[in-house]
Amino acid sequence: MPTVRLHDLEFEPYISEAEVLAAVDRVAAEIEAHYADKRPLFIGVLNGAFAFAAELMKRLTIDCEITFVKVASYHGTSSTGTVTDLIGFNERIEGRHVVVLEDIVDTGNTIVHILELLKERHPASVRVASLLFKPEAYKKDVTIDHVALSIPNYFVVGMGLDHDGLGRNLRGIHRLIQNPQ
Ligand code: 5GP
Repeated sequence: MPTVRLHDLEFEPYISEAEVLAAVDRVAAEIEAHYADKRPLFIGVLNGAFAFAAELMKRLTIDCEITFVKVASYHGTSSTGTVTDLIGFNERIEGRHVVVLEDIVDTGNTIVHILELLKERHPASVRVASLLFKPEAYKKDVTIDHVALSIPNYFVVGMGLDHDGLGRNLRGIHRLIQNPQ
């Protein structure tokens, strides 16, 4: 499989699209079992979670709704861990069963901050589903309830994840080649 150049960096295929979609199948089944009759409200964290959100939604047969939220938090290839606000988020979530959809949970700073901001709005419950999770980087106590794939501390792109805007459209997950020849 060919490597991909995005701006100044080179990425190699890491997890195939088929493998990622099989993992999304599993997460969808977990969520279906947990939320039957609860009409969950999914909140996809933009920009990265759009692809995971779409794949997940296609697999659900229970009544559910989806909306999206944007946060400003990340630049370059290491997490800055600062979330300022939920940009333009006016959804009423009081009494709702909320599932936050993330592309990746790294240190956990972003998701924990998002959860704090959402809990101020008194949802009935909040859980987290993430396409990718980096357990070695994770520094928080909050449980990431539904994880499609756990990965080591690689910087990855594809399936919604970008490097400076590029790579979101790649099928499957690609990882950064540290010292390309
Ligand atoms: P955290 O706050 O958990 O450290 O980082 C979460 C955010 O950092 C993610 O939503 C994502 O935007 C970004 N991030 C963390 N690791 C990666 C990675 O390997 N690739 C990309 N493209 N973004 C990442």
